[in-house]
Amino acid sequence: MSGKVIRNYFKSLKFRLLSLFLILGILSGIAVRIGVLTAYEKRVINNRSIEVLSQSKILATQIVSMDYIHNLSSETITSQLQQLSQIYDGRVMLIDDTFRIVEDTYDLDENRTIISEEVVRCLRGEETSRYDKENHYIEMTIPLTRKNLDTSESLVIGALLVSVSTDSIVANLDDMRQRALVIQLISGMCLFALGMFLSMRLTNPLKKMADSIEEIQMGKDANDGKLMVTDCYETARISDRFNRLFGRMKLLDDSRQEFVSNVSHELKTPLTSMKVLADSLNGQEDVPVELYREFMVDIGNEIERENKIINDLLSLVRMDKSAADLNITSVSINELLDLILKRLKPIAEKKHVDLVLESFRPVTAEVDEVKLTLAISNLVENAIKYNREGGWVHVSLNADYQYFYLKVEDSGIGIPEDSLDHIYERFYRVDKSHSREIGGTGLGLAITRSSILMHRGAIKVFSTEGEGTLFTVRIPLNYIS
Ligand code: ADP
Repeated sequence: MSGKVIRNYFKSLKFRLLSLFLILGILSGIAVRIGVLTAYEKRVINNRSIEVLSQSKILATQIVSMDYIHNLSSETITSQLQQLSQIYDGRVMLIDDTFRIVEDTYDLDENRTIISEEVVRCLRGEETSRYDKENHYIEMTIPLTRKNLDTSESLVIGALLVSVSTDSIVANLDDMRQRALVIQLISGMCLFALGMFLSMRLTNPLKKMADSIEEIQMGKDANDGKLMVTDCYETARISDRFNRLFGRMKLLDDSRQEFVSNVSHELKTPLTSMKVLADSLNGQEDVPVELYREFMVDIGNEIERENKIINDLLSLVRMDKSAADLNITSVSINELLDLILKRLKPIAEKKHVDLVLESFRPVTAEVDEVKLTLAISNLVENAIKYNREGGWVHVSLNADYQYFYLKVEDSGIGIPEDSLDHIYERFYRVDKSHSREIGGTGLGLAITRSSILMHRGAIKVFSTEGEGTLFTVRIPLNYIS
């Protein structure tokens, strides 16, 4: 359990934010520390070099003017050379133009020859300065030049080699380095605390969101069952989208529940009738055969009705499936209409309704024959069912280069205006008892509409109560998947 908590923590946004904060903080701290210390070191070394160089140059001028290099008798210069070497904790050597060390403040190498790159360059008149970081000293050479009064040319008569220790500077820098490290450690700890706080603050809206969703899931209606995390723009947006999605799901769930209760009710009605009929027969003694027959006919009708409801429900379920379940073939719509009307002719004749088909042109389209037949049959059957005695039904077919158009018009009872929006709903009937009398289930138009939409088509209805109804259907000739 605790292992899971730890694993979750490492995977969390909080941990990532904290790590990012720490990495950025520590890296920038290190960069600043190293940058500042390096710049400081450079500056201090530079200052020391300039200082020593200027002192040495003054001394060099004096050495040249007193010709000290050839005559070491000047006490002042000797003591000045000693002073320079003491002040800067270094060594000063005076070299003549034959690379011989004339004077060494360490008294170690006098009269020896010194040939180094710096000395050679210096005796050529070049001034050199070099910082040996590893061995902690600065070495510089200053040429001793005299002007030839006749030719006014500069003549190098020797070199002053000064090397000063940078031990004190290095010690200073080490001390600073240690202090900076301590400061960085302390600031690292502060950074950690701040990072913890900030990462918690930043991820708090997400935590709030997860908690609220959990509450909604458990049915606690804190905010009227809505997600309301408006701490920042992003969470407000997610809350809004979540509420919309949740609302749609609730609506779907409500409609599913309503559908289930409607289905149960519709299926129960014929069963109840059959039970009443059977009970009344069973409850009587010496029932005449005629009454038995009559009741059995009624029971038979109820069974037929139950069967029709179940068949319609199955059709509807098939229509609810995805468009991939369509069995598309090239079908002659003229022939399809002929067949449908032929099948429905007996019902129309029974009601003395005149059924007419008008085809303006031959039409072949890519459709699912079974599903489209069901859709058109329902429309024509309704036009006959909800008609008056001796009325008419006109079915017409036309097409352009893109769609075919079907019209089913009748001279029937019409549909009230306030019902027009509902007729495609499952189990909706304008007049429940009338529809039931003529064998309606309230599913026909729902099936029709689903089928047409699956074909990427459209259906419209126009109706005037007492005068008649017109359904128009438009379906693409070529199936668009
Ligand atoms: P039903 O099985 O009851 O006919 P439908 O879904 O096919 O169910 O139709 C829904 C309702 O719309 C019907 O009950 C009826 O009241 C009305 N209706 C459908 N077609 C017509 C029409 N051509 N004329 C008048 N009313 C119609």
